[in-house]
Amino acid sequence: MQETDSIFEQIVDRGHEQLCFHHDPETGLKAIIAIHSTALGNALGGTRRWYYESEADAVYDVLRLSKGMTYKAAVSGLPMGGAKSVIMLPHREQPRTEAEARAMGRFVDTFNGAYIAAEDVGVDIEFIDWMASETNHVMGGETVSRGGDPSPWTAMGTFHGMRASLLHAGKGDDFSGITVAMQGVGHVGQNLCRLLTEAGAKVIVADINKKSVDHVVETYGCTAVHDADILTQECDILAPCALGNVIDGSMVQSLRCQILCGASNNILGDPEEDAVALKTAGIVYAPDFVVNAGGLIHLAGMHLGMIDATLQTKNDEIFETSLQILQRGEAASSTYAAAVEIAEQRISGAKETGIHAG
Ligand code: NAD
Repeated sequence: MQETDSIFEQIVDRGHEQLCFHHDPETGLKAIIAIHSTALGNALGGTRRWYYESEADAVYDVLRLSKGMTYKAAVSGLPMGGAKSVIMLPHREQPRTEAEARAMGRFVDTFNGAYIAAEDVGVDIEFIDWMASETNHVMGGETVSRGGDPSPWTAMGTFHGMRASLLHAGKGDDFSGITVAMQGVGHVGQNLCRLLTEAGAKVIVADINKKSVDHVVETYGCTAVHDADILTQECDILAPCALGNVIDGSMVQSLRCQILCGASNNILGDPEEDAVALKTAGIVYAPDFVVNAGGLIHLAGMHLGMIDATLQTKNDEIFETSLQILQRGEAASSTYAAAVEIAEQRISGAKETGIHAG
């Protein structure tokens, strides 16, 4: 998907501070860093390695994702801004190299800490540690940098968001007798399958990777369905944990869930309109940037020097935050609008008082 507006129109429209393009002649690296906001502090956001059909697609992705990070940090009460970066691969299967990661690390370093990189799709712990050989401003590695894989923390936060959604929907917060349909059982999805089945839920899964499906069927007793059928499964909770942009207003009538709560970023094609359509259809929508903040809270919290107990408490707070937003969504046009309002109030409050925790 791409915008027809000029780049400056897109930046102005979304309220971005910076959009920086970088080319490294030695490795051929082409990368973009988008800093949406530093009003609340320096901005932490993952680096995505992806093949984009066009530059416009890459710009669209990095702008949308970085704005989501601003909201995610603000709604989680973190003194952090929002940013994201993308590495534009020349081919779909381009192998990752240390030289590429180091070149990306040097690009990140030029921001002197205003941008802090971390894992995203296509980037693993080893890649992060290669980047960290060139900059201190990266989180999520295990040897050169700190933090490790954030996905268990993201899964735990999403689990709290699901509990809050069940309570809000009048189903208690007990998972026994609850059916969850999960699209995507990768890093986050597998951890979530474990938490849900331990709590007594029945979990229906689909993934285009058969090995991942077999793993959760054998390990956690999940039930597999074809990936074309997962979004329309009859269930209590539909949990997209694969890609973004999987639900739009036109699909709402075919959904057979009471709650939409998943870990993917940007689950809704057009969140403003689609969240209203979900509300009208009586489906409780827990906004993705609220419930999937566990990984950010973990890495940003470590970066800010929080101790383990505080990191755990901050993750547990996703339950209360989700509940509060679901309740406020009753009076607002949607739960998405309620969550954005809270995030924007915190950002504008910081601008007015001049508090900057960066
Ligand atoms: P991942 O790449 O490990 O897992 C994604 C899984 O989705 C893979 O197993 C893949 O095969 C599957 N998939 C892709 N397309 C599919 C389709 N059409 N149908 C079914 N399955 C499909 O990624 P992850 O780290 O588990 O993250 C999952 C989602 O959560 C992503 O959207 C990511 O942006 C978001 N997220 C992740 C974190 C984190 O800590 N990892 C934090 C916040 C948000």
